[in-house]
Amino acid sequence: MTKGIVIIGAGHAGVQAAASLREEGFSGPVTLVGDENELPYHKPPLSKAFLKDAQTKPQVLRAEAFYTGADIGLRFGERVAAIDKAARQLEFEDGGNLGFDRLILATGSRPRLLPLAGADLAGVFSLRTVADARAIRDHAAAAQNVVVLGGGFIGLEIAATLAAGGRKVTVIEAQERLLGRAVAPTISLHVAGRLAATGIRLLMRTTVERLDGENGRVIAVTTSAGEHIPADMVLVGIGAVANTGLAEAAGLTIANGIRVDPQMRTSIPEILAIGDAANYRHWHSGGDVRLESVQNATDQAKLAARTLTGHDEPYTSVPWFWSDIGDMKLQMVGLSTASDRTVLAGEAADNRFSVFHYSGGRLVAIESVNRPADHMLGRKMIAAGFSPTPEQAAGGDLKDLFVRWQQAQMESAACPQS
Ligand SMILES: Cc1cc2nc3c(=O)[nH]c(=O)nc-3n(C[C@H](O)[C@H](O)[C@H](O)COP(=O)(O)OP(=O)(O)OC[C@H]3O[C@@H](n4cnc5c(N)ncnc54)[C@H](O)[C@@H]3O)c2cc1C
Repeated sequence: MTKGIVIIGAGHAGVQAAASLREEGFSGPVTLVGDENELPYHKPPLSKAFLKDAQTKPQVLRAEAFYTGADIGLRFGERVAAIDKAARQLEFEDGGNLGFDRLILATGSRPRLLPLAGADLAGVFSLRTVADARAIRDHAAAAQNVVVLGGGFIGLEIAATLAAGGRKVTVIEAQERLLGRAVAPTISLHVAGRLAATGIRLLMRTTVERLDGENGRVIAVTTSAGEHIPADMVLVGIGAVANTGLAEAAGLTIANGIRVDPQMRTSIPEILAIGDAANYRHWHSGGDVRLESVQNATDQAKLAARTLTGHDEPYTSVPWFWSDIGDMKLQMVGLSTASDRTVLAGEAADNRFSVFHYSGGRLVAIESVNRPADHMLGRKMIAAGFSPTPEQAAGGDLKDLFVRWQQAQMESAACPQS
């Protein structure tokens, strides 16, 4: 290899891939290309701590010295316009090109746009980058009435943060419950109750007709029921779509993301895709998924580096995710899509409980509110294939059970006949 490995996208996945290539002993050229003009940074704080305090700075993923020390070429502030796969080179939006032997697509996702009149008014925001977060923070400083469109993780994190800062916040959600695609109804209900108790107004089963403006700035949101809600700021949090444009134009297979095999290879094997942009068959659930989480981006990046350094291992990480909404730390592990039974451990009234999800008697996911120990143990149990019974999950000391199960596994591996 002479042109080496080029990574498009300098977010969580891209930066980890560059670091892991070096950790795996790859000594050829590695170039990290990103269109943001920032040293790559952690995204989760943007909807949490970053919004609370005007002095908070972005938290960098790696110090600048890391890239120099690891001899990783950086092309920040440059956007790739096309992949010429025959010539094996990238074309930049501002002209110029860059050759590659192998390519990793870590292009992430972008906020879904609101297809409504008024969506382009000043004061209407979505959140993906630190530039978005700075704009939201600046605008929020003088805002009184905030409307959040969408009751998903990012929308609710922002709603709780801005309400704690004294603004009047309304959340509008089209579905019948908050976080509807992500957690069990018990948790949705709990989150709704606690947010409402802090003064946030929640409008469920409600859609928006239009955003109203005056002199180019948003002043209100009109719901389809005809209610006119004053707003000097609107946050749109209605999900994200994968950045697949480059891959699609290059002829790669796309299916709600860039389709990859268990080693993260796209339909053109010398091009890999990872992170929010990648869609794959999940080893545990058997379904096709595109996950948006730091864990997914990081673990896929590590595996892509292994693939490119001659290993042939499938992706088998257990998915996990967290979100901080007001006084609730939500932690999810596993995939609950196939869940056919849930069991509650702990008390919702204490703001400390977990929901265990089972599918055909097998533990497939745990969703926790302020019960980090369940989450941490859940990661280990699901990875090991250990399912406590629903009764044990509801009441028992799972740590002890799990340790005993592991010992029994080790003993039967040592003496398979007994
Ligand atoms: C506000 C916010 C809060 C979040 N909170 C959590 C959380 O609490 N927990 C959690 O697990 N996850 C959270 N996430 C999700 C997590 O941040 C993402 O899953 C993760 O960033 C995905 O990493 P990625 O590298 O795939 O994409 P990204 O981190 O988005 O990086 C992709 C990069 O590629 C660049 N790019 C795209 N196209 C091009 C191109 N043509 N040329 C050059 N560069 C390009 C993009 O600009 C971007 O910088 C949050 C996300 C956001 C936005």
